[in-house]
Amino acid sequence: QAKSAGPNQYRFYAPNMNVRGHELLALEADLRRAMEQEEFVLHYQPQIDLRDNRIIGAEGLIRWQHPTRGLVSPADFIPLLEKSGMIVPVGEWVMHEACRMHRKWRKLGFNDLRVSINVSAAQFGDADLLAKVQRVLKEERMPHQALEFEITENILMRDPVSAAELLEAIHALGVRIAIDDFGTGYSSLAYLKRFPLDALKIDQTFVRDITSDTSDAAIVEASVSLAHKLDLEVVAEGVETEQQLAFLYAQGCDLVQGYYFGRPVTISEFIRLLQQ
Ligand code: C2E
Ligand code: MG
Ligand code: MG
Ligand code: MG
Repeated sequence: QAKSAGPNQYRFYAPNMNVRGHELLALEADLRRAMEQEEFVLHYQPQIDLRDNRIIGAEGLIRWQHPTRGLVSPADFIPLLEKSGMIVPVGEWVMHEACRMHRKWRKLGFNDLRVSINVSAAQFGDADLLAKVQRVLKEERMPHQALEFEITENILMRDPVSAAELLEAIHALGVRIAIDDFGTGYSSLAYLKRFPLDALKIDQTFVRDITSDTSDAAIVEASVSLAHKLDLEVVAEGVETEQQLAFLYAQGCDLVQGYYFGRPVTISEFIRLLQQ
């Protein structure tokens, strides 16, 4: 998993890797500089509404524009940001940046779009999260219902009681809540009625083989049906082919996201997509 590292260079942290202390420190210092020098960028992947085939919004996905290594993917640095607690300020930046870009879209006349951001466990444990959300919404004059938080099942199940409380408060502002990577975490279905949810995002591992693997097809079919009965919107992640799309359409899936429609792109490329 780890990128090969030359002499005098650290290796990127990966969860299963036994990183030596000084390498970790070097990477941490690198990440700290990244924050100060504003080396993080958000890319945007379109979400398409299957009811009318239009872009309804985008998921913001972080990348690290490293001075020598180029664009680094989140899998290579989010775990360390989480471990060191740096995900809290970086996550706040992500939220702010997403709302700032949404404001840009509105200025261009795209008023009905949504933007989703990923919220990690450490952010969820931050006592100031609610206040930060309120501040960002106000500063960017963000329509509250246009912001969506993506949260995984595992985060919710760590401490379900305080998670429910925090989500209720965030949801009461009008901010949407989606379960990310649905079906892959450790959870019970009971949580679906305990938390104020708006959407389920079916994980791409189920979508990949829906047209050849009958178990995956059954899981997707059941997820769509369950979501709709609970009055939740369903998003399929990782849609790469026309066949997958046809299957999801037939199942009544509401929204899709994936390389078939577009990879995550820079803000200016995303705006160009909107204008087409
Ligand atoms: P995620 O939230 O489940 O995001 C979906 C991932 O699937 C993204 O990877 C996206 O580029 C990728 N993807 C989208 N469509 C396709 C497709 O058709 N095929 C395939 N094979 N992949 C597709 P990415 O951008 O590398 O992000 C990976 C993970 O890193 C995200 O998974 C999320 O958990 C985390 N992440 C990304 N940005 C942030 C952030 O700002 N904050 C936090 N806390 N986590 C983030
Ligand atoms: Mg996500
Ligand atoms: Mg996901
Ligand atoms: Mg994921």
